[in-house]
Amino acid sequence: MASDGLEGVNIARETQPNLILMDINLPYLDGRALTTRLRSLPHLTETPIVALTADISDGSRELALAAGCAGFLNKPVDVDKFPYQIESFLKGNVQQLDDKDKSIHLQRHAENMVKQLESKVLELERANQLLYRLDRMKSDFIVLASHELYTPLTLVSGYSNLMDEHLKQDDEKVSLPQTREIAGLMSTSVLRMQGVVQEIMNVARIAAGRLELSIGPVQLGLLVDSVFQAFEDTLVQRNLSLQVNEVQAPLLFGDGSHIKTVIYNLVENAVKYTPDGGEIVVKAYSSGSGVEFAVQDTGIGIPLEEQKQIFNQFYTLGNVDNHSSSKSAFEGGGMGLGLTIASGIVEAHNGRIWVESRGEDRDSLPGSTFFVWLPIGSAKDAE
Ligand code: ADP
Repeated sequence: MASDGLEGVNIARETQPNLILMDINLPYLDGRALTTRLRSLPHLTETPIVALTADISDGSRELALAAGCAGFLNKPVDVDKFPYQIESFLKGNVQQLDDKDKSIHLQRHAENMVKQLESKVLELERANQLLYRLDRMKSDFIVLASHELYTPLTLVSGYSNLMDEHLKQDDEKVSLPQTREIAGLMSTSVLRMQGVVQEIMNVARIAAGRLELSIGPVQLGLLVDSVFQAFEDTLVQRNLSLQVNEVQAPLLFGDGSHIKTVIYNLVENAVKYTPDGGEIVVKAYSSGSGVEFAVQDTGIGIPLEEQKQIFNQFYTLGNVDNHSSSKSAFEGGGMGLGLTIASGIVEAHNGRIWVESRGEDRDSLPGSTFFVWLPIGSAKDAE
């Protein structure tokens, strides 16, 4: 039993039915088009397909037979005759059309099928346009909402830093130590919120193709150093070793601040997905007409089948129910945007980003290596 034709085709693909009773008026594709489809499956070329329908319009029977039905029965069925009719189809009885009738109805059947497909294509096109518009509206909304959040946040962040500074300078009698601690915590939280909003803004810009690059000379070694400094405390707390090997990359032309984000996101992931005591190695070297850098870790690795999808927006492999908001803890939370942003930035530079990992295993820790290749570019790009 199938509630529509496409479900019927799927069932018939997996089984070897002795006989198929098919309605003609079905959603999506009609019974005649489905009969032609079923006939094209090698194990169903000889299976009797019998149209069982209330459709008694002119030519309905001939069209069904031309499409490949072995017989045509009208609903309601005659309960006394029905078992004998089925028995005769099972024995190989086929209702025939004469040659002329067959060729006329085959032609009409083909035209009907093309019409049905045409209207489906139009429907899909309309649905696709609607989805495209909705997706665009969603991206615009994210850009607007994050801008709206970012502006007041910048003010709050400025004031909370100012308050923090004031309290540090005040003498102890005026500002209680707790107040100072609270002000410090507030600054850190605001900074964190700014980071999140910034991430959303970046990804929305990338999705809308509106990432702007400000090109200039970039020294990869310096960017790597400054990223490392940002992780210094975490590395100590988590007993992770971070090594820089042979950073012999030549100067390249690109957007230094965005490229730093790429390195930052890759190192942050290496930190997040490597258990305490692990090792992270960063290398950078010349490669063809560009520079390649690699961030290698001794972490949990990435399943082979997920290695392409992780670069998609909002794609995270972890269970979101266990989401933790710590970005430095082992398997600490993220929004699934880090790699999307990294790959958007790399693509805007006409570069490539990819990952190599033997798979995921929390016991043997196969690790992952993320590679980025960027063209050297020229001073002309900077202009
Ligand atoms: P998130 O914010 O969730 O870390 P990312 O876009 O940075 O989002 O990464 C997407 C997913 O890819 C992560 O949820 C994680 O499962 C996987 N991943 C990324 N980097 C690594 C890595 N170095 N080791 C293992 N898994 C990783």
